[in-house]
Amino acid sequence: MVIIGAGVMGASIAYHLAKHGAKDIVLVERNVPGSGSTSKAAGGVRCQFSDEVNIALATRSLEVLRNFETEFGVDIDLVSNGYLFLLDSVADAETFAANVALQQRMGLDSRMLTVAEVAELAPYIDTEGIVAGAFNPGDGHCTPEAVVSGYVSAARGLGVQVLKNCEVTEFESTEGADSRRVTAVTTSKGRIESAQIVCAAGAWSGLIGEAAGVDLPVRPLRREIMVSEPVDEAALGIDLARMPFTIDFSTSFYVHPEGPGLLFGCPDEADVWDFDDKRNPDWLPTLAELIETRAPALGNVEAKRGWAGLYEMTPDHNALIGEAEELSGFFYACGFSGHGFLMGPAVGEVVADLMTGHQPFVDVSGLDKRRFATSGLRKELNIV
Ligand SMILES: Cc1cc2nc3c(=O)[nH]c(=O)nc-3n(C[C@H](O)[C@H](O)[C@H](O)COP(=O)(O)OP(=O)(O)OC[C@H]3O[C@@H](n4cnc5c(N)ncnc54)[C@H](O)[C@@H]3O)c2cc1C
Repeated sequence: MVIIGAGVMGASIAYHLAKHGAKDIVLVERNVPGSGSTSKAAGGVRCQFSDEVNIALATRSLEVLRNFETEFGVDIDLVSNGYLFLLDSVADAETFAANVALQQRMGLDSRMLTVAEVAELAPYIDTEGIVAGAFNPGDGHCTPEAVVSGYVSAARGLGVQVLKNCEVTEFESTEGADSRRVTAVTTSKGRIESAQIVCAAGAWSGLIGEAAGVDLPVRPLRREIMVSEPVDEAALGIDLARMPFTIDFSTSFYVHPEGPGLLFGCPDEADVWDFDDKRNPDWLPTLAELIETRAPALGNVEAKRGWAGLYEMTPDHNALIGEAEELSGFFYACGFSGHGFLMGPAVGEVVADLMTGHQPFVDVSGLDKRRFATSGLRKELNIV
């Protein structure tokens, strides 16, 4: 079995396949494990989604992340201060209230907050124009690379071969009864025969699809992040130990504690739909403007470092999980549209189940890419 890409998805799939007792598993990574979008993520882990399947996947993942250190022996710096959406329109508040009701029916503790409750929980926020908040106290953030490292070490321990600096370039297939069937991949380090291959190549999945003759509608979109110098909590009037991952839903500006400092992110009109992940010098002023508007108390923090990375966007901002109808044996787990890190643990489990004929804990057939030709878009609304 060949897994293409050792981000959180590939690493988790490899581990779960090995746990099922599958043999001859090769995890192929063009660079080093975790070096793609996973290492660029803000680390946010939340169960607040609008799509039932996403809620189920996120909930399962969070359970795993809470016990990660015990199970995998790796500290992932999990901070469980919750995740707060700021809502500035009645229409959004109504939609979120319906989603919160769904999340509660699925056993979550998420809830709507009044503006006064938002102000109490997030005193650094200017609540001008805010009409409500949505909050799940069990959400939070953690360190993505640590999760990859935990899965890769555990997978290796179970016999998975991890090929670093090794690029998959071509696919071989044979005519099957109903469709072509994958038989092998060519890599920069040689050919690997395999009747099952999974594309977990993140933002680059569309290119893998092209090489294999499989339509994977995944497009890269640049996003940027800034981490501040350590902050003076008393001077800013904040309590890092309590501060939730806070996101302004209409602008997607967000902030969360990052060690002794703060991590900020937001989109920018200049963000390109391309494989360009260079930092944009004009982005910091955009961020500064949003801080000034929504969190002016944080306006004087000093930037320490930053980076840009790629979201892996699909037409409906929902993931693609399944086996290609054009190429039997070609599985895919990609297109998580900017919320894939938090889904990694559960998606790895589900994809390994699909590949080994086990029943997944949740029905992911609605995330099959065939939806675009049959039922149409399956929109996830709670996107960042
Ligand atoms: C700025 C930013 C902030 C984000 N914040 C969050 C967040 O707070 N929470 C969240 O859940 N998600 C977040 N995300 C999204 C998250 O990073 C991704 O959804 C997730 O990491 C996808 O994981 P992956 O394993 O599918 O992809 P990746 O981590 O990109 O892994 C794919 C791997 O495939 C490899 N690869 C590509 N082509 C080939 C090839 N031909 N041969 C071999 N290997 C190949 C790449 O090198 C890469 O390592 C954020 C993303 C960005 C950019």
